[in-house]
Amino acid sequence: MFRHIRWRIAIPHVLLIVLVMSALAGSLSSLSRQALQSDLRRQLASEARLLADWSAPLVASHADGDALDRLARRAADLTGRRVTFIAPDGTVIGESHADRTQMDNHADRPEVSQALRGTEGSDIRLSHTQGRPMMYVAVPIRMDSGLIGIARVSLSLAQVDARVASLQQAIFTAAGVATLLATLISLFIAERIARPVRELTAVADRLSKGDLNARLTPSTRDEVGRLTLSFNRMARRLQEQVASLSRERSRLAGILEHMADAVIITDRDGQVQLLNPAATRLLALQPPQALGHSFRQLVRHPRLLELWRRAASCREEQTATIDTGAHGTYLHAIVTPLEQTDEQGYLVMLHDLTRLRQLEAVRRDLVSNISHELRTPLASLKALTDTLRDGALEDPEAARRFLDRMEVEVDALIQLVQELLELARIESGKAPLNLRATPVESAIIPPVERLRAQAERAGLTLTAELPDGLPEVLVDTERIHQVMTNLVHNAIKFTPHGGRVTVSAEARGDRVVIAVADTGVGIAPEDQPRIFERFYKADRARSSGGTGLGLAIARHIVQAHNGHIWVESQQGKGSTFYVSIPAAP
Ligand code: ADP
Repeated sequence: MFRHIRWRIAIPHVLLIVLVMSALAGSLSSLSRQALQSDLRRQLASEARLLADWSAPLVASHADGDALDRLARRAADLTGRRVTFIAPDGTVIGESHADRTQMDNHADRPEVSQALRGTEGSDIRLSHTQGRPMMYVAVPIRMDSGLIGIARVSLSLAQVDARVASLQQAIFTAAGVATLLATLISLFIAERIARPVRELTAVADRLSKGDLNARLTPSTRDEVGRLTLSFNRMARRLQEQVASLSRERSRLAGILEHMADAVIITDRDGQVQLLNPAATRLLALQPPQALGHSFRQLVRHPRLLELWRRAASCREEQTATIDTGAHGTYLHAIVTPLEQTDEQGYLVMLHDLTRLRQLEAVRRDLVSNISHELRTPLASLKALTDTLRDGALEDPEAARRFLDRMEVEVDALIQLVQELLELARIESGKAPLNLRATPVESAIIPPVERLRAQAERAGLTLTAELPDGLPEVLVDTERIHQVMTNLVHNAIKFTPHGGRVTVSAEARGDRVVIAVADTGVGIAPEDQPRIFERFYKADRARSSGGTGLGLAIARHIVQAHNGHIWVESQQGKGSTFYVSIPAAP
């Protein structure tokens, strides 16, 4: 019960009220008893004085006892008191309620002895004669200023007790009602104080459980009201701070999530506490398995572990370039001790250098490929000019032959340079496409027709089969002609005498797929993924004198059209190159 503020306020108040009320009721009843008794005493005294006055002649004349008895009885009848007359020696000489001859000497009664001394005497005690508590008041009877007897009036206190009892009952009833009312009022007040505190506690509870919108409208202007206002202010600040923290956190999480570099945070003992998707990707981990594990368990690469250990032992940033060996991945690793946080930890950042290395390798390859491609025609040009200078010039027949061969070499050089320039232009994006909705026929037929003579010279049948109702394609016609030329040219080049080259097209969904099929030498499966690379020639020994750039250019053009190019081929049976490009909307 005392755990509720309502009772803690109400119970002491109720106890206090009960205590005060009972003390008040007790003192009131004793005060009223005293007041009643002194009133009664005064009344009895005046009656006694009256009786003393009346009886003085009788007492002085020493009339016989019966006359005084009658007087006493008469007075008792009129007043309802007991009346006694006593001689100065203490002998009872008149009595209203008893047989005076049977009564003992009254000189030793306190009120009588007081009256014998000439003053008014009174006493409360158990009456010998009546056997009940009585109040006695005695006054001297005087005649010619001499004391001739005592008149005593007495009354049973039972009446006084009854009046005191009824008075007490009234007082206690009033006190009870007052106590009840006061208790109810104090309970009501306690409840009014306790309710806002209780509501505040409930709101604080909701807040602690994460409901940051919990607020309370202050119902009073007192301390609790002010506390409610402060509490609301605190909740609002808390909500703002949590919101700004979570904004910050989601911003950071977004950065971590999308950054290309791997980020791993470990505690001082090397337990992984955070890692981003780039880290799981670079280290080929499963995220659930990663968190909570030790860095040593996750990262099996000894150089990276060594780097972490070095950073841990000298508490300084460590960097290194690491070749993880797995799929030729190169990483630039930085391990930094985190000093500013409460708990010490380490930040491991991994930057993937693989692509950069690959680009470097491609550049190196390109330079060596170009040199290689240039060397052959240049060497043969050199040989031809040497031969001419050494005397062939004198033989017009031979000179013409040599010049023809020199022209062929120069043409090859020009083609190489043109193709390189073309590739560079397309790759750099400096050749914007002029896209137009074009009938498939116009995209395919002109280059096929241009190469027909060459096909016939090579003894091949070149056909184009286009079904009716093909949608238009969204292409830069000139560029698509180039693609078609390269593909058909290759097909002619790699198909032996008597073979067939067929160009066809079909609609597939919102795309048109063009196929250039030949019955030529075909391409080995291991070469198929690589023939679209620059300078790649499947069989260098049987090289047809091409540059190895034709398919690379074709692929770039097709990709710029948002299309795909691929090959299906069987060695010795032939190849089919497919180009899929979007149809015009
Ligand atoms: P090239 O100038 O050497 O033809 P390409 O890039 O056009 O260069 O072709 C690359 C290589 O792909 C060729 O050297 C050849 O080995 C192979 N290739 C291309 N087209 C065909 C085909 N239709 N049949 C067989 N092999 C082909």
